[in-house]
Amino acid sequence: MTKTITYIFPVYNNAPSLQLLYDEMRSKVIDKLAKKYSYEIIFVNDGSKDNSAEVIRQLVAKDKHVRGFLLSRNFGHQAAVSAGLDRAKGEAVIIMDADLQDPPKVCLDLVKKWEEGFEVVYAQRRVRKDSFFKRLTANVYYRLLTSLSSVDIPRNTGDFRLIDRKVVEVVKNMKEYHRFLRGMYSFAGFKQAPVLFDRHARHAGKSEYTLKKLLRLAKDGVFGFSDAPLKLATRLGFSAAFIALLGAIYAIASKLFFTVNVPGWAMIMVAVFFMGGVQLIMLGIMGEYIARIHDEVRERPVYIIDEELNPAVD
Ligand code: UDP
Ligand code: MG
Repeated sequence: MTKTITYIFPVYNNAPSLQLLYDEMRSKVIDKLAKKYSYEIIFVNDGSKDNSAEVIRQLVAKDKHVRGFLLSRNFGHQAAVSAGLDRAKGEAVIIMDADLQDPPKVCLDLVKKWEEGFEVVYAQRRVRKDSFFKRLTANVYYRLLTSLSSVDIPRNTGDFRLIDRKVVEVVKNMKEYHRFLRGMYSFAGFKQAPVLFDRHARHAGKSEYTLKKLLRLAKDGVFGFSDAPLKLATRLGFSAAFIALLGAIYAIASKLFFTVNVPGWAMIMVAVFFMGGVQLIMLGIMGEYIARIHDEVRERPVYIIDEELNPAVD
């Protein structure tokens, strides 16, 4: 029996590029691999506001290897990919952007590495064409995340990657509500390897990763994979206590050895505000974790499927 490769595309307002995406996938990847592998294409419509759902319907109607899952609203990129992973049937799964930023032909390299025995093959950007701001923040963020958490998340890597069935099963069984997939693949382990590529400019439309969504993803990475922020409380507490001790020594010394009358007003104000600030920050950090515990215990679904198009594929 020939093995199947599943291609998952999360779709949010990508209607203008979907047909071209399908054509390119067929001509540049799928047809070239046709002798060795069968294919399955999964489009997960993440509550798009344009007519992406209609375009997906047309693609499903034309090709029986294409499946569509229409979510009931916008659940976010990580949730949409999770929906695809949960239903993928292939022995290998490739996750790609639906806006043609990830060049289809790179899939051939991903598959080659997979054939060499690697279970996670991630596409790593050779150069980032993003804005200076995005490059800088991404750099600082990844450095921070790697130093804070125990999982090593490769740099300059997005969600574009191939993962083996073994890893798909592991990730499917991780039921966490706040999903940071890159961290979850790293957590899973297995043999991992990079493939270098150049990312394209977007084919159409604008980035749907708004600053708000990016910040949420960044927080999911830190709070989901590190308890360092919680430990910050102890460190800040000790530092503050140490500073207070120095202050006390100074106060006693000045009382004993100098006759000057120290008003000390400024010092007290600084100390009060400093301690207040530290306590509020720590409360906020505790709140982050508690909110996450709350979200996890509710066990709400990560995504809700409204309609399945072509759920059965041979
Ligand atoms: N996406 C999604 N839900 C969202 C935002 C984005 O499914 O709420 C999808 C989008 O359709 C695309 C991928 O996630 O296939 C990456 O999004 P985008 O291209 O906007 O991000 P960028 O490439 O700028 O990081
Ligand atoms: Mg994109």
